[in-house]
Amino acid sequence: MNRFTYTRPGDMAAAVREVAAEPAARIIAGGTNLVDLMKYNVERPARLVDITRLPGLDTIEPTPSGGIRIGALVTNSAVAYDERIGRRYPLLASAILAGASPQLRNAASTGGNLLQRTRCYYFYDPGTGCNKRKPGSGCPAKAGLNRIHAILGTSEHCIATHPSDMCVGLAALEATVRATGSNGDRTIPFEDFHRLPGDHPEIDTTLAHDEIITAVDLPPEDFSAHHTYLKLRDRLSYAFALVSVAAALELDGDRIKTARFALGGVAHKPWRDAMAEQSLRDRPASTDSFAQAADIALTDAKGYGHNDFKISLARQAIVRALAQAAAGTPQSQTDKRIR
Ligand SMILES: Cc1cc2nc3c(=O)[nH]c(=O)nc-3n(C[C@H](O)[C@H](O)[C@H](O)COP(=O)(O)OP(=O)(O)OC[C@H]3O[C@@H](n4cnc5c(N)ncnc54)[C@H](O)[C@@H]3O)c2cc1C
Ligand code: SF4
Repeated sequence: MNRFTYTRPGDMAAAVREVAAEPAARIIAGGTNLVDLMKYNVERPARLVDITRLPGLDTIEPTPSGGIRIGALVTNSAVAYDERIGRRYPLLASAILAGASPQLRNAASTGGNLLQRTRCYYFYDPGTGCNKRKPGSGCPAKAGLNRIHAILGTSEHCIATHPSDMCVGLAALEATVRATGSNGDRTIPFEDFHRLPGDHPEIDTTLAHDEIITAVDLPPEDFSAHHTYLKLRDRLSYAFALVSVAAALELDGDRIKTARFALGGVAHKPWRDAMAEQSLRDRPASTDSFAQAADIALTDAKGYGHNDFKISLARQAIVRALAQAAAGTPQSQTDKRIR
């Protein structure tokens, strides 16, 4: 049995001190990922710092710049069903509702969703090697079961994917993460928050050990008129994405002024390709334009055997998602049939 202490600090400064003082401390919010990992013996914290009673982290409010700030403890359900999010950022609501189950979304927090760990089978099995769980112990997924693994941005040390749906929506919206730690407050552009595995697959994000996420800011541009979140998976519910696409367009007639699309299920972080997005500027919103952008985005895609199918699946998903966004017919998360 792994013995650990449990603390419930009353304010943020105390929470930061508790985490900073113990290298093996872990923050716990909804617990829907961390507790599973503790049961599997993957996470063995010496101290659990429960942040669920910290004041001021459970609100959704406007920002001075005309965007929306979502507190780190706001549940995934509360975000998805908030009237302002539904009206202005339906892309985010849709991405959240594509994930997990109602019970999980009721417990899962905004901060915890960003920091959930990969679903790689080997990562969850301490009986095998895994560079992410134990640096230097190898990556059995590369030559093993890799149906759910990455096709972009991999390294020789790890081919895991980031499993979140919400984060794919946040990437397309260009959200900002707000954090506080021993060195004070800082903001992190979403693009810079999650890392690629490189030589250090054990590090998922650029957040320091003693930093606590306080909020996520959505910028004023909401893409409410032309967006979609398309999630392709083995079952229609309660399954992680094989490939997902968050698409957001700004149109001038039938021409594209701005295009953004982020991919889930294909990389160690929500994946965007600036050249592919740029290729859509001033182009007609047509299947040809979307197919060309998909080809650019997948130029460097590489399969590892079982996941080879993801390359053509991602190509088709990008075209479908951009077409849905252009037509203003976003993917329904209650009727998940793709039309
Ligand atoms: C069966 C199942 C199916 C699922 N399906 C999906 C799915 O389809 N799509 C999807 O996107 N997700 C899915 N999830 C994952 C779920 O969304 C995450 O478990 C959840 O979002 C994590 O939030 P939490 O508050 O419970 O985090 P916790 O488990 O409490 O914490 C997760 C991590 O975040 C850290 N942390 C939490 N809050 C903070 C903070 N404010 N600052 C710093 N660190 C923090 C913790 O230390 C821990 O490392 C599924 C989960 C399960 C169990
Ligand atoms: S893909 Fe990453 S998480 Fe999975 S076994 Fe390899 S190193 Fe571990």
